Amino acid sequence: MRTKPQSPLINTPSLAGLALVVAMLFDAALSIQGLVPDQASLFPALAHFLDTQQIAERLHTGTALIAFTSGMILAVSLILIPMQRVYRAREARLLRERERLEAYNAKLAHQAANDGLLGIANRREFERVLELEWRRAARERQPLGLLMIDIDCFKRFNDSYGHQHGDTCLREVAGVLKAAAARPGDLVARYGGEEMVILMPHTSLEGANLIAERIHTMLAERALPFPDSPVAAHVTVSIGVSSLLPVRDANRATLVQQADEGLYLAKDTGRNRTASVPHLRLLHAADGSATWASQGQRA
Ligand code: GH3
Ligand code: MG
Ligand code: MG
Repeated sequence: MRTKPQSPLINTPSLAGLALVVAMLFDAALSIQGLVPDQASLFPALAHFLDTQQIAERLHTGTALIAFTSGMILAVSLILIPMQRVYRAREARLLRERERLEAYNAKLAHQAANDGLLGIANRREFERVLELEWRRAARERQPLGLLMIDIDCFKRFNDSYGHQHGDTCLREVAGVLKAAAARPGDLVARYGGEEMVILMPHTSLEGANLIAERIHTMLAERALPFPDSPVAAHVTVSIGVSSLLPVRDANRATLVQQADEGLYLAKDTGRNRTASVPHLRLLHAADGSATWASQGQRA
């Protein structure tokens, strides 16, 4: 445990007080010494060389000077100590206030980046991280994977069991997504309504498909009841997958657009499945910019 360092000001009055008392006692002793006659001295030869009276007077002057200085230091210390205490209390109050503001700022930052209902990142945070990860992936020449996940027939779920149960179901699905994509760099976010996304750095289309399959399996195991579903007896999702090797000038929106197209393909082909659109090619225009295009398209 850390001990608080003792203030030098706290010791100053004690030392000054001690010096004052010693000086006063010494002066009193000198006065008493004046009562003793020279003839009675035990060392008459020494007394001959020393003018006891003169020495006593000098010592008295020195003692008085010490007493005066000590008294002044004592007085000044007694004024400064309460001032120092007030300053310390103000400093502690400011420190507490700063800690409170820092905690409040952290809470605000968390609220600005997260979805209050689902406890995962919100759309804004997703856009921010996508920009960041896109640049990083371009630098490191690594693929960036994306899953776009949509709950199947969720409108019917709400109509059948009420919005409150719908909210609980959304939270459960978000929990499954977080458990399925558990790498530190993976970001699970609410894209809007009952649509969620997972951004996965260093992830190829093959790797992204594996996570998508894991989500279907985990949801089947979790088996959130949905007897009215035309797809299965439990809550299911459709997933669109994409993965690109980002190039700095190419548009990040392509990654999202490709996953979105995959999602609609999954819906169109029966739901409760994963789909991706055919691979895109990177086209370099004459001005040096680059765009992604589907097979057959020219720059
Ligand atoms: P599909 O399989 O084609 O995706 O059908 P769907 O019914 O899921 O699609 P649709 O877009 O028609 O309906 C989405 C529903 O999601 C409608 C909306 O009320 C519901 N929803 C969106 N956000 C929330 C939410 O925060 N809480 C709840 N309970 N429901 C939500
Ligand atoms: Mg839906
Ligand atoms: Mg939807």
